[in-house]
Amino acid sequence: MKDKAVVVFSGGQDSTTCLFWALKKFDEVIAVTFDYGQRHKKEIECAKAIADDLGIEHHVLDMGLLNQLSPNALTREDIKIEMGENGAPPSTFVEGRNMLFLTFAGVLAKVKGAKHIVTGVCETDFSGYPDCRDIFIKSLNVTLNLAMDYTFILHTPLMWINKAQTWEMADKLRKLDYIREKTLTCYNGIMGDGCGECPACHLRQRGLNEYLESKKEK
Ligand code: ZN
Repeated sequence: MKDKAVVVFSGGQDSTTCLFWALKKFDEVIAVTFDYGQRHKKEIECAKAIADDLGIEHHVLDMGLLNQLSPNALTREDIKIEMGENGAPPSTFVEGRNMLFLTFAGVLAKVKGAKHIVTGVCETDFSGYPDCRDIFIKSLNVTLNLAMDYTFILHTPLMWINKAQTWEMADKLRKLDYIREKTLTCYNGIMGDGCGECPACHLRQRGLNEYLESKKEK
C-alpha cells in the first residue's frame, strides 16, 4: 500500500517546509488549508499557488466558525497585533485552532485513505500555545485513533527545532530560496521577506539571519 499523508498547510514558512519534508518521505501528499476568515486572503492564495506549482491535491476548508468563536487579531481588523504580557497569549492567538485543524485534517485523511498527518506545530520558538505542545499532539493522536477507529500517525517535524533550524531543514531539502520567496508569514500580508516590522517577520528574519551566519562559519 502506498504511504499517503495529509499536510496541514497555511502557505507560511513552517507548513511549507513540512510540505517538502512530507513530499520526500511519503508516496502521496495531500495539502489542506483552513479558511477561518484570515485578514489576508493572500495567505490562502499563497497556499493555492504553491500547491498548484507542486502539482499536489489541495483542499481549502471553510472554518469561519473559528472567527465567530474566538475573536483574534488574525481575523479582526479592529484588534491590534500585540505580544502577550505576563504570560498571556498574544492577540493573534486563536483558542483551540490546532486541535480543530488537526481533527478536520484527520477526517479528511481517513476519507482519503491516508494514515499520516503532518503539522508544523512547534514547542520551541512559539508563544506558548497549549495546542502546539508535544504532549497535546500525542494525546490527540490517541483520541483521533479512538474516534475513528483508525491508526493515524501524527508527524511534527518542527516540534523541537527553532526558526534557524527550520531554515536549515529547508536548505537541506534544497528549498530554502523557494520557501523564502513564495511563502507568507507576515501579519501584514506581504510575501517573502515580509514587512520586516511585525512579530512574525521578526521571528522569521532573526531565524534566517542566524542560520545564514552559522552557514558562513562552517
Ligand atoms: Zn510582517
